[in-house]
Amino acid sequence: MCAIVGVFGDNEAARIAYYSLFAMQHRGQEATGISVSSGEHIKTIKKRGLVTDVFDETALKSLAGEMAIGHNRYSTAGSESVLDAQPVFASYKLGELSVVHNGNLINKNEVRNSLIEEGAIFQSSMDTENIIHLIARSHEGHLQDRIIEALKVIKGAYCLCIQSRTKMFAIRDRYGVRPFSLGKLPNGGFIVSSETCAFDLVGAEFIRDIKPGEMIVFEKGSDTYKSIQLFEPDPHICAFEYIYFARPDSDIEGKNVYATRQEMGRALARECQIEADLVIPVPDSGVSAALGYANESGIPFEMGIVRNHYVGRTFIEPTQERRDMKVKLKLSPIRSLLKGKRIVVIDDSIVRGTTAKRIIRILKEAGASEVHVRIASPTIEHPDRYGIDTPSYKELISANKSVEEIREYIEADTLSFLSIDALKQSLGSDTNYSLVSFDGNYFIK
Ligand code: AMP
Repeated sequence: MCAIVGVFGDNEAARIAYYSLFAMQHRGQEATGISVSSGEHIKTIKKRGLVTDVFDETALKSLAGEMAIGHNRYSTAGSESVLDAQPVFASYKLGELSVVHNGNLINKNEVRNSLIEEGAIFQSSMDTENIIHLIARSHEGHLQDRIIEALKVIKGAYCLCIQSRTKMFAIRDRYGVRPFSLGKLPNGGFIVSSETCAFDLVGAEFIRDIKPGEMIVFEKGSDTYKSIQLFEPDPHICAFEYIYFARPDSDIEGKNVYATRQEMGRALARECQIEADLVIPVPDSGVSAALGYANESGIPFEMGIVRNHYVGRTFIEPTQERRDMKVKLKLSPIRSLLKGKRIVVIDDSIVRGTTAKRIIRILKEAGASEVHVRIASPTIEHPDRYGIDTPSYKELISANKSVEEIREYIEADTLSFLSIDALKQSLGSDTNYSLVSFDGNYFIK
């Protein structure tokens, strides 16, 4: 998961990076950081915490320069160190370097072990550090060639922003798994970012998506950018960005996420019809698909469950009792609306089955007479491995139970998932998508 941003050619570069990271807080809440180049030096501030907690006015003012890169880190198990925050900074033979990365490298252990064999020392558990080492030990005379050499060694899903004191490189892997877009800033500079929702906040104009396999180079003194197609494109755009991860107001590959989710909801209504009185979403992840489902089925849409936005991810929940309390704190039913009603409840996905089970209990306790669960994506039967944080086969409920067994487990009256074909149709045929969670096609070998 994670978010990255790069800002070039604006003397408010750090502030623009800050707003962009704020717009992309949903992609990572564990840690955040910004590096700025003044032309002479690169300065980095990074810490655990949310964007607004880490950066105040003093911090932003201290990050003076026209070029900035930034990162939001998504928490994954066992990595609570600030050393795992990005940007990753290093001094090396040609000067100073700072890197941010979104994605997941599949050969990170192999590469790391061979670097360690050759004497490299690592400070963190991040695969991003591999890239820095590969660049630093290359014998090429120019940073651009060193980066290209490093990219030939790493395998996996990546969007990268690499900054030296005078240049910035934005790179997307040849599969284009994670989104990455290019925009123009109002003052003439440029911005690259994981999602286009960042552009709207900083007044940037969308130029285009960075192409799979492309490197874009920005250089101090030039008012434009250079594009180099490094690798043959083989598009596998992550379908899960559209289903769950990206913000609804972002566009990926020219397609709006909200509209695509609505289309998935409409397709779900066509595939899995049921007689009911109300369509309600699991807030907030099921809202767009539920609207599509309601429009297509003609069943009225209601926000039957209210979400309290102040219940954070870090709420301590050591016991089952406390976990149940957390759900009660987070989600409350509107009893008068639900009592005696046949409900279709829509969510974007089922991973472990925890949310669905709890939601159904809430609805039944509120007096719903029937609860029909409709999921606007296919069954998740495989871990993602390319940058979406999904659990192992053991914990994925659809890898271990049939749809009927899941229905029984979550205590729904009926349960249906969107088919893979309908998902593909909702996404359209203008490019190719990664459906790895659903079909287990691990296309990066
Ligand atoms: P679960 O409760 O484990 O079945 O997870 C399903 C819920 O988590 C749904 O409401 C999704 O919106 C949300 N979700 C799906 N994928 C992820 C993910 N990779 N990380 C966090 N939440 C997710």
